[in-house]
Amino acid sequence: MSTGKSIGKTWSNWAGNQSCVPAISAAPATEDQITELIDLANSRNLTLRVAGAGHSFTGAVPTDGMLLTLDRFNRPLDHDPETGRVTVQAGMRLHELNDHLASLGLALPNLGDIAYQSVAGALATATHGTGRTKQNLSAAVVGMRFIGADAEPIDVTIEEQPDLLRALRVSIGALGLISTVTLQCVPAFNLHAVEASAPLDEVLENLDSLTQENEFFEFYWVPGTRTALTKANNTTEAPAGGRTRWERFRDEELSDNLALGVFQRVVARRPDLIRAAAKRLPDTANRDYIDRSDLVFTSPRRVRFREMEYAIPLEHLTDAFSEVRALIPTLDQRVTFPIEVRTCAADDAYLSTANGRPTGYIAVHLLNTIDPTTYFQAVESIMNQFGGRPHWGKMHYQDATSLAERYPDWERFATLRREHDPEGLFTNPYIERVLGPAK
Ligand SMILES: Cc1cc2nc3c(=O)[nH]c(=O)nc-3n(C[C@H](O)[C@H](O)[C@H](O)COP(=O)(O)OP(=O)(O)OC[C@H]3O[C@@H](n4cnc5c(N)ncnc54)[C@H](O)[C@@H]3O)c2cc1C
Repeated sequence: MSTGKSIGKTWSNWAGNQSCVPAISAAPATEDQITELIDLANSRNLTLRVAGAGHSFTGAVPTDGMLLTLDRFNRPLDHDPETGRVTVQAGMRLHELNDHLASLGLALPNLGDIAYQSVAGALATATHGTGRTKQNLSAAVVGMRFIGADAEPIDVTIEEQPDLLRALRVSIGALGLISTVTLQCVPAFNLHAVEASAPLDEVLENLDSLTQENEFFEFYWVPGTRTALTKANNTTEAPAGGRTRWERFRDEELSDNLALGVFQRVVARRPDLIRAAAKRLPDTANRDYIDRSDLVFTSPRRVRFREMEYAIPLEHLTDAFSEVRALIPTLDQRVTFPIEVRTCAADDAYLSTANGRPTGYIAVHLLNTIDPTTYFQAVESIMNQFGGRPHWGKMHYQDATSLAERYPDWERFATLRREHDPEGLFTNPYIERVLGPAK
């Protein structure tokens, strides 16, 4: 079987702000092909990166060496009905995984906003959803098959090598290539989704109880308005209902994506219309339905944007948000793209943005046609005051010096990196910037 090898093929990410022309690109379909390609990269002195679905905004993927995509290494492998553990190849996309799990009567305990990512790519950057008692996706990983710079696959389990697994769960691809992933799944569940608009001040005042009383709570704020769009999802025994396929299409495609795209373009040209336009948004925000968990958590995102997201200690969430809110009118740039606020439970993955602390997340976005530097850097200075940790896959301006002190297990990860990638095979400029030189 061919490795789909090619030379001089341009790769770019979803947002269009990262690209590269690797010396060699390949799409291996077997693990033997993967190890052969690692040997080839070593013999040619090329660095090697793995691309997932290219949904990171940072330079986590680009390389001028060898770039592997695991789009053909995406099959389901094992399923243990006793434990609910499921093993899949790392290139499987989350939406494929969700369908596979549903066919087994299982689900992931939590998900982010979309399901386009590859399994390994989503884990690598600590992709998360929302929910004060819910951990990010990587917390469900109980085993991984991993291939370091020596091209020797090793099986790592939570029972036998907890230290290495805690590093591998969120690794930004800096330790080596993840070949397979074993996930502790939960029985399939439905969610009752209630989406509504509410006065922003009221939401902020009640944020503590809203995030405690709802299993999965988040809100969006459209700058320039006093309205929050809230989403409260709770597990239910009731069957799916309350929205037809057409209504789902209408809500996700027409109301969310189309309205957001039109809104952003209109207010970019006529900023004076923001209040009037924003008044229309809440009209489309009220929804009440029940559906399969992954279909509630995730939806399509058609409007291309750039994003920065910060993880801060949960107790500072309202203060940090209020500072961002106060910042917006002081900027020269008009910001109209919604700001997203979520929560997450603490976990113990060394590089997880929620490592060791209950976490609040604040995400800021701009259309990908607008330079985000001034806005994002101003928000970043606010997050610095709260010991903020940037999402590894979303834009930020930190480096290893500023980040090391924000992660209690930083040195542990660095030691394992030196052990498994002593010569810096799996590095690139972003990895060197955020984790420090490989050797
Ligand atoms: C529209 C949109 C919505 C998003 N929503 C959310 C959200 O709700 N919550 C959230 O937390 N994030 C969200 N993200 C960010 C996204 O989940 C992360 O950036 C994620 O890492 C992207 O996964 P990917 O498969 O595209 O990986 P890529 O971006 O392609 O790669 C990410 C990292 O994984 C590494 N990698 C990939 N495969 C392997 C492998 N097999 N072995 C080793 N390393 C590997 C890459 O080298 C890279 O370092 C969103 C992004 C977009 C564009």
